[in-house]
Amino acid sequence: MTRPTNEPWLLTPGPLTTSKTTKDAMLRDWGSRDMAFLNTNRRIRSILLDLVNAADSHECVPVQGSGTFAVEAALGTLIKNTDKTLVLVNGAYGKRIARILEILGLNFTVQETPENQPNDVDALAGQLHSDPAISHVVAVHCETTSGLLNPIAEIADAVAKAGRKLIIDGMSAFGALPIDARDTQFEALIASSNKCLEGIPGLGFALIEKTALANAKGTSRSLCLDLFDQWQTMESNAQWRFTPPTHVIAALDSALSQLIAEGGPAGRLDRYKNNCRRLVNGMRALGFATLLPDTLQAPIIITFKMPTAKNFIFSNFYDHLKDQGYVIYPGKLTIIDSFRMGCIGHLTESQMSGALSAVEVALQRLGVAYPLKTPSPTNQTQRNVL
Ligand SMILES: *Cc1c(COP(=O)(O)O)cnc(C)c1O
Repeated sequence: MTRPTNEPWLLTPGPLTTSKTTKDAMLRDWGSRDMAFLNTNRRIRSILLDLVNAADSHECVPVQGSGTFAVEAALGTLIKNTDKTLVLVNGAYGKRIARILEILGLNFTVQETPENQPNDVDALAGQLHSDPAISHVVAVHCETTSGLLNPIAEIADAVAKAGRKLIIDGMSAFGALPIDARDTQFEALIASSNKCLEGIPGLGFALIEKTALANAKGTSRSLCLDLFDQWQTMESNAQWRFTPPTHVIAALDSALSQLIAEGGPAGRLDRYKNNCRRLVNGMRALGFATLLPDTLQAPIIITFKMPTAKNFIFSNFYDHLKDQGYVIYPGKLTIIDSFRMGCIGHLTESQMSGALSAVEVALQRLGVAYPLKTPSPTNQTQRNVL
């Protein structure tokens, strides 16, 4: 994996570094009614279902746009005005789901845990028991705000036991973290082209349980984001309703072949786990502290606590890394000051090692002594914020 000239490695949650093969797949034009394009479209829809063994139970409905477009589309298509939704929140993406429901004017309630704590399955079961009006639960598989892995299988069991429907925002998990439709019940699982699938941005999709989709006619309050209508059109003539993102789909088709060649989601997860381990160990050796204990950390993106060293100015740290060819991500937490480094994308341990050397150089340039002295978890300021 060599870096094309002037292109930094993206240690971000997406868009992220893609392979040259994926980029090369876009070097031609397709008509949207072209047979070759329609076949590609059919193939990606079927592979996306196969990745989670959902071909018998679900339909794959893609939609133009970033991941949030697909989230809004799926919620708006499946949740009726008479329904009530419980949103499990422990970060910005859960909050965004609640905001979408609010804008759609739907009835919902939120169950929130702190950003460094997983969704509380016992509390979920309790609330489903005490509020029979709740018809749907929405959960985020990997909360990209922190990098935290929520207990999605346990959540799905609790929801299924209570006879309710589960909608999963699997955006930053799909294609790497395990989920299987044959033993994890969900009404919809939503993701996008540009995270663990390592495609380019521009396409979201929802895998929707067949009966739920068939019953969704006329529910959406949007024309563009009506996944029932999108599905009907695609089923009837294999075409998209409106201009399809042809190059995004071609890139995704190539990215999916590469995913399968890597051993599918399990193979990809192995690479991400190695990346994560290398990055976390190396950063800890330099004195950085992770927000999460290893048991809650998904090998997708890692949140580091902002060092307290006087000379550590994040924007300068960021620039020094960028100069050396590595792009990292600012924090998105409300509980503490932090920054994030992703370990997904077309990257291996060799890029993680490169990033660690770049961090060391950045610390030298900032005049920050290392290993850093990290505040212990029982330190006063940490206790106040967490
Ligand atoms: C990336 C992401 C989204 C969608 O974000 P977009 O910027 O719209 O692509 C939604 N949920 C989660 C958990 C994500 O990681």
